[in-house]
Amino acid sequence: MNPLLTPFDTAPFTKIKNEHFKPAFLQAIDDAKAEIDAITANEEAPTFENTIEALEFAGQQLDRISSVFFNLNSAETNEEIQKIAQEVSPLLSEFSNDITLNEALFERIKSVYEQKDNLNLSVEQDTLLDKKYKSFSRNGANLPPDKKKRLREIDSELSKLKLKFGENVLAETNKFEMHLTDEKDLEGLPEGEKEAASALAHAKNKEGWLVTLDYPSYIPFMKYAKDRNLRKKLSLAFGSKGFHGDKFDNQEHVLNIANLRFERAQLLGFKTHAHYVLEERMAQTPEKVYDFLNELLEKAKPAAKREFEQLENFAKELDGVECLQKWDSSYYSEKLKQKLFDLDDEKLKPYFKLENVISGVFKVAEKLFGLQFEEVDDIEKYHEEVKTYRVYDTDKKFISIFYADFHPRKGKRGGAWMTSYKPQYRLNGANVRPHISNVCNFTRSTPSKPSLLTFNEVTTLFHEFGHGLHGMLADTTYPSLSGTSVYWDFVELPSQIMENWCYEKEALELFATHYETGEPIPMKLVQKIKESATFQEGLQTLRQLSFGLLDMSWHGIDPSGIENVKAHETEAFKGTQLYPDTPETCMSTAFSHIFQGGYSSGYYSYKWAEVLDADAFAYFKEKGIFDRDIALKFKENILSKGGTENPMVLYKRFRGAEPRVEALLERAGLIKKAS
Ligand SMILES: [Zn+2]
Repeated sequence: MNPLLTPFDTAPFTKIKNEHFKPAFLQAIDDAKAEIDAITANEEAPTFENTIEALEFAGQQLDRISSVFFNLNSAETNEEIQKIAQEVSPLLSEFSNDITLNEALFERIKSVYEQKDNLNLSVEQDTLLDKKYKSFSRNGANLPPDKKKRLREIDSELSKLKLKFGENVLAETNKFEMHLTDEKDLEGLPEGEKEAASALAHAKNKEGWLVTLDYPSYIPFMKYAKDRNLRKKLSLAFGSKGFHGDKFDNQEHVLNIANLRFERAQLLGFKTHAHYVLEERMAQTPEKVYDFLNELLEKAKPAAKREFEQLENFAKELDGVECLQKWDSSYYSEKLKQKLFDLDDEKLKPYFKLENVISGVFKVAEKLFGLQFEEVDDIEKYHEEVKTYRVYDTDKKFISIFYADFHPRKGKRGGAWMTSYKPQYRLNGANVRPHISNVCNFTRSTPSKPSLLTFNEVTTLFHEFGHGLHGMLADTTYPSLSGTSVYWDFVELPSQIMENWCYEKEALELFATHYETGEPIPMKLVQKIKESATFQEGLQTLRQLSFGLLDMSWHGIDPSGIENVKAHETEAFKGTQLYPDTPETCMSTAFSHIFQGGYSSGYYSYKWAEVLDADAFAYFKEKGIFDRDIALKFKENILSKGGTENPMVLYKRFRGAEPRVEALLERAGLIKKAS
């Protein structure tokens, strides 16, 4: 008996062996195909129920098997699981391509879509229909055969170009190394960073130290190395990836990607690639994104200029630096920050014992949403370190299963994330509750010391828990609209807003006590955390805006007239530039987020999400950070609603108005709060 093919509630981890996965996937794919064939073979006329709903609930078993498998591949993998992943991934993408290209299925969906105004659908049903229809139409299902063919050509060309772009960036990153043989060249670097540089050299059988363009090597060198010329050398190497006119050059690829995306968008009836992408975002249109970026720019620029001058004066005072350059920014910012705040992790960590922080985040959830977390040991886990909880509401009604897996292990990838083993949905009158998981990589305890978190880890825990709440409190009918299945410029609202509680006295009092003495965290320290969190916020904002504007400059227009990548970029950076330009460098040729990854026309969403969480939290601040009415509004209009409605509609229902960029600027201290 294959435990994955036997109906299960919580994942049967102890019964699953690696050899169960592949046959389970094959069987579940076959079953899902049969379910879809049954939809297209139906002789009755297409209806919402027999087509849209049937499609929504087809392949449920495959989804469950996939979540168990891919969650394990992230949190507790091994070579065997990785090998299976390589075998099943192509099968899964083939299966989903088969659905998107299934013309008989699309005909039925289209027929329902065309009658939608007469069907008396609920808002959620309407959203589901729209989503299903667009998953076909946005992939060309409505195009005549010749244009369909061209779309496939473009897609295949784009995926090759993106791959090549990424390979070039990687090759350029790996090609460069700065070999140092005089210890004086490393002056300023903390001991640990020096050791890391020496280990890099050692691994390549070299004397001395190596500095590379990988972030763990590059970032500390730019931050701490006293030698200005070496910082310059490293910074120029970093900034000129894909811009050397050699076989790894990406300029041609940038132009080709931008033009093919434009052509694709036009084929599908959109004005530009950005119009195409933003149709499925909270922001909706490029105009809205431009307005947003420019409004933020106008309001943040004076503060950024002030901070730039402050930094320039500081560098002049300290080292007689006349003209501040890009390679000075990280170094002098770090020095200035130390001077102003004198705050280091070691001072804070004793107040953030992991167990205390966990109980803190649970208390916050209880005070806001009435949730109770009961740790239980009758739920199977994939590793003994995983903690399992049953979550209840105030009336003892069951809400969710919650898994928490906090420490690094060999088979776990880096970072922190939220995921689910089972979505929430309603079927046959039952509200099926979700199984949610948080996975992190926090320092584990030692025989002499408990696990003590840095402040950054504390906010990470609250952040992922916020995504977790979005999953746990979901209350929708359809699984594909449930929990965190929302537009991606909206998905960080529930997570980022939770971080705000970490800076509040009333919340810290609940859990931030010294692990040895029990003494509560001194408010002086809390004040410093707050102030240092907004250090150089103006400059940071300007930097993010420059990336967002560059992204839009490639995707929000017809790019066919662009000939020179660097000249185009210089123009796009005009309004955000504070440091002198360096002709040797180019950002676009290594901007993997937008040319290789999925962020094209989406870079703005980092700041967008910050505005959302600042504006939403400002509402709590007005009434009290534990105000139950506001919390209830947040739960009812945001957390429980998933992607069932347009996020702007949901947000306005919660807040009574659209989010204001001023909320972010006020929180960051860049502008004074209007009284
Ligand atoms: Zn997040």
